[in-house]
Amino acid sequence: LKNTELSQEILEIGRRLHTKNLLAAADGNISCRISENEILITPSGINKAFLKPDQLAVITIDNKILSGSPSSERLMHLEVYRNCPHAKCVIHAHPPTAVAWSVAHPNLKELPSECLSEIILAVGKIPIAPYACPSTQQMGDRIRPYLPDCKVIVLARHGALTWGESPQEAYNGMERLEHSAQILMYAHMLGGLTSLAKEELDALRTIRAKPGGNTL
Ligand SMILES: [Zn+2]
Repeated sequence: LKNTELSQEILEIGRRLHTKNLLAAADGNISCRISENEILITPSGINKAFLKPDQLAVITIDNKILSGSPSSERLMHLEVYRNCPHAKCVIHAHPPTAVAWSVAHPNLKELPSECLSEIILAVGKIPIAPYACPSTQQMGDRIRPYLPDCKVIVLARHGALTWGESPQEAYNGMERLEHSAQILMYAHMLGGLTSLAKEELDALRTIRAKPGGNTL
């Protein structure tokens, strides 16, 4: 994709995240790799539903600002690009139900995946990274242990991070995360979580283990 097309994709993703209530006001940020060392990223402080192409900033992978005023959460994006050579797009949003799981269950290390085939088939597992102070390098440090294996990560008491080899894959991860978190919440409210049988889990993990590992 050319830079102008990538800009359009970033704007479209911003509108969709907003429409689906995956962020509020100026929350969240979206970035795309435009060359080996350059990243196009959303600006700080602007509502993602109203972004204009000329508001996007360009930074280098070692955090030099080439143009614009990039998001203060860029250190987390750069951590992904440095650790995942195939990463083309990174999305950070605040999906409400996914975050609520980390608030209600602070000891949870991952969203319960053994209840739902869609989590295992679509992403394998969804870890919950320990809390980090927003806009600090600590955010990058807390997600590093999950890279490059996990493309969908909950950030405890804050939001979520997804990445992909295309903007579409990164966006799918964010939709998948909140959708799964909602189903788990409803199940929890309706009587409690139950698990798939072990042989079913084994079968799902065998399917998921096939080459590729893309977010579905
Ligand atoms: Zn955030």
